[in-house]
Amino acid sequence: MLLGWCPECNVPLADGFCYKCGRVGKPLPLKSERLLPIFKDTQKWVNNLAEQDHSIRPLPEKDVVFINELRFSNRNFIVMEEGREILQVDFSGEHNKWSVKVLCENPVFEDKIRGSRTETVVEANLDRVDRLEKLGSSLIEECSSKFGMPLYVSFSGGKDSMIIFDLALKAVDPPLLFVNTQLEFPETVNFTHEVAEKYGVELFELLPRKDFFEIWEKCGPPARSHRWCCKTNKFAPLNLFISKDNPKGIVRIVGTRRWESVMRMQQKVIDRNKWVPHSIAVHPIFEWTDVDVWSYIWKEKLSINPLYEQGLVRIGCYPCPYAEMSRFEILGKLHPELLDNLYSRLIAWGKKHGYDEEWVRSGRWRFRKIDEKVKMKELVPCSSDKDTRIYSLKDPEKFISLLKTLKQPLDVKKTTINGKKIWQIKSKYFSISIIGENVSVRGNFKNYVVNRVCRLIERVYFCMGCGICTGFCPYGNIHLTRNKLHVKKSCLQCGKCAGMLFGETCIFAKYRGGCMNT
Ligand code: SF4
Ligand code: SF4
Ligand code: SF4
Ligand SMILES: [Zn+2]
Repeated sequence: MLLGWCPECNVPLADGFCYKCGRVGKPLPLKSERLLPIFKDTQKWVNNLAEQDHSIRPLPEKDVVFINELRFSNRNFIVMEEGREILQVDFSGEHNKWSVKVLCENPVFEDKIRGSRTETVVEANLDRVDRLEKLGSSLIEECSSKFGMPLYVSFSGGKDSMIIFDLALKAVDPPLLFVNTQLEFPETVNFTHEVAEKYGVELFELLPRKDFFEIWEKCGPPARSHRWCCKTNKFAPLNLFISKDNPKGIVRIVGTRRWESVMRMQQKVIDRNKWVPHSIAVHPIFEWTDVDVWSYIWKEKLSINPLYEQGLVRIGCYPCPYAEMSRFEILGKLHPELLDNLYSRLIAWGKKHGYDEEWVRSGRWRFRKIDEKVKMKELVPCSSDKDTRIYSLKDPEKFISLLKTLKQPLDVKKTTINGKKIWQIKSKYFSISIIGENVSVRGNFKNYVVNRVCRLIERVYFCMGCGICTGFCPYGNIHLTRNKLHVKKSCLQCGKCAGMLFGETCIFAKYRGGCMNT
């Protein structure tokens, strides 16, 4: 990346060259690749902090000012002007407070700094952005026919989604696919509806099957190392949509960009998400920097989610453990009832597990390890020895239906004695007897297939009915009722949903109850 700064035009240059005045930019002392604009409200907030700490109000509170976002857990950033660092804004988790440091040696803050004009940013980066636009649109056009599957724009309500939508409109005119995790800011949901209406495109709004706080009761709050809700509230609705309406799979145009995180740097322009196996994800703005993104938005005069102007850097779920601390402040300002509900649930959960209120207010809850101060409740067999394990399972018939997915020829015998159903199931590797709620498994537990039998028992036991596993069956044979899942008679016994090919397909079984605390 060649990010530079044009001293004449006072704007960042994504190519390191100014297409407005023809100058080569000066190199920037960046701490990360993220160079973003802040708008009037955030400038005002920085000025308030600077006034409190240093009796200065340096930002113009108009046009835009660029910041270099640091890769920390909170919203820490450096304000740039004339290509140099002038202020650093930090949140201290320890003191639960924001502060401003003056970075330049001779600050001339008697007057306000210049800031950057959006029209100038566009002109200074125009040739590059035009080039990226053509590449992005032609990739979408190519993918619309290449895979023979219906194409959707994955719309999250953020600026990157707005760009891919605009590029897609120029190429093919596809519908919008919006996973409403039910954890969105209300502004995001409204903005998505407004966009669909304004452009007259079809909007598919997908909702999770399970309530976030209902799963929270079992798993505890999500944390950075344990983002169960991404599976249950984001990927599961997608899988249910694909298995119900698009059995051949879908192509999703996604606004992921390389520079957003270290993890994303490894991604490819066309790939698949392990948790949404029957969809192909195409990332037409993968190589775009933040300067490209904002230049394009200002060039095309695209509307953006109003939350950016309120200071949000990334649009996403309001309770996300990946959010920077400023998101919770903004949430409190815009929707105090949502923040109060989140914090009171976190405080109640923390109290039960030995964390004080400070753990919540300082944002340390976001870094909880799944086993930290949580009493594990794994599914322990009622009795076990080397070759036999006996489990108590409320719904053994669901487990029997899942056994088909193991790709094993089964010999199944069913009888009823004194009104009690009795099952005898045999395969080459195991034998299972079921009497009422008692499930007895016999076999060599070091054997992979026998091990999978135990995992299926755990899956039935821990099932929350989220629906993510439905996406692993290409034939729509996993059926979810209100009372959780079962496998249809038409199952082809291909093994794709049982973890035989893709690895574990149920996050609750994956953590083997390690995240369960009740
Ligand atoms: S809150 Fe965060 S981790 Fe949970 S679904 Fe939303 S983005 Fe994913
Ligand atoms: S088995 Fe697991 S993945 Fe499937 S619906 Fe139940 S909880 Fe979700
Ligand atoms: S993926 Fe579908 S067809 Fe294959 S084993 Fe699972 S339920 Fe049966
Ligand atoms: Zn210039």
